[in-house]
Amino acid sequence: DSEPKKEDLQQIIQLMDGFKASKALFTASKMGVFDLLQRKPGLDAAQVAQEIKAAVKGTEGLLGACVSLGLLQTSQRPVYKNTDLATRYLWSDSPFSLHGYIQHCNETLWPLFSHLESAVREGTNQHERAFGKKANDLFQDTYYNNQSVKLRFMNAMHSIAKVTGKAVATAFDLSSYKTACDLGGCTGAIAYELTKAHPEMSVTVFDLPEVVEMSEHFHPSHTDNRVSFVAGDFFKDELPKADLYILARILHDWPDEKVHILLKKIGDACTPGCGVLLSEILLNEDRSGPSRGLLQALSMSDGKQRSAAEYSTLLKSHGFITAEIRHTDNLLDAMLCVKE
Ligand code: SAM
Repeated sequence: DSEPKKEDLQQIIQLMDGFKASKALFTASKMGVFDLLQRKPGLDAAQVAQEIKAAVKGTEGLLGACVSLGLLQTSQRPVYKNTDLATRYLWSDSPFSLHGYIQHCNETLWPLFSHLESAVREGTNQHERAFGKKANDLFQDTYYNNQSVKLRFMNAMHSIAKVTGKAVATAFDLSSYKTACDLGGCTGAIAYELTKAHPEMSVTVFDLPEVVEMSEHFHPSHTDNRVSFVAGDFFKDELPKADLYILARILHDWPDEKVHILLKKIGDACTPGCGVLLSEILLNEDRSGPSRGLLQALSMSDGKQRSAAEYSTLLKSHGFITAEIRHTDNLLDAMLCVKE
């Protein structure tokens, strides 16, 4: 009983080493290791080093770490290739590539988390410390006033939306809804999943003009004329008419006051029977998890993570009754609320 327990030590070591594993993944992804080995499997460390323009010694270390994390496979010689996991999620052009989100983790979240102690002491977001400028509106002040940062953010959203889109689009029977509006629908990834899953449905993606002007870069090869884009500000402008409003990863970005402004507008635009499809990480009611949601909250600006009951209360005050809650096995959960 007085000796350290193996499982305890493993759990602690995993937490202490977690950041090293994350940074190894981010660095291999950024330096193009998975893309390279997808195109040319079976290179040795010196060949990889040459292609990614890095030192052989450094590359050997990075490749070895990736092997130990289950991201690369090696053999006696040793040469390297992607594991099935890397082939499915890590190289840039895979249908479920998380490459875009990994870049966002590396370039945006990592600097924010390196100031976590200040964030905790001050109870504020650390954008100014991490990036040298204050962010009042996260989107307009931080992500969208620089073209490459904007594209990186859109890529990050797109990659998660492609992985979760089908689970969200098929979480509920939506057959009674013919027109949907995806508020803050970004690249349209979820809109295309909705039209694929619901042959009768057409979807308007509503997002800020800076986003809509770039959205065509993300259109799938088979576009669908049931998906259209409208530019506007959902706090100020009139919302497109629809039977179903989608709010995917929107409400967690905003404090309750702002959420009420948006939900009031949606409530006013809805007739009885219209719906709101919410897609978020839903916190356990006792806030014991999931840790993904609670960890994400540590770098958030004005927003917060909420439980299903908290979202239900917010929606209830605008006349929406929570009809169904679905904990998907994917990255996001979903709720369907219907206007009384
Ligand atoms: N719904 C997408 C998804 O789940 O992948 C994107 C979620 S992203 C966290 C938030 C989105 O809200 C961004 O695309 C952003 O441009 C959009 N947004 C932020 N403020 C907005 C506003 N005032 N009006 C319209 N869209 C806004």
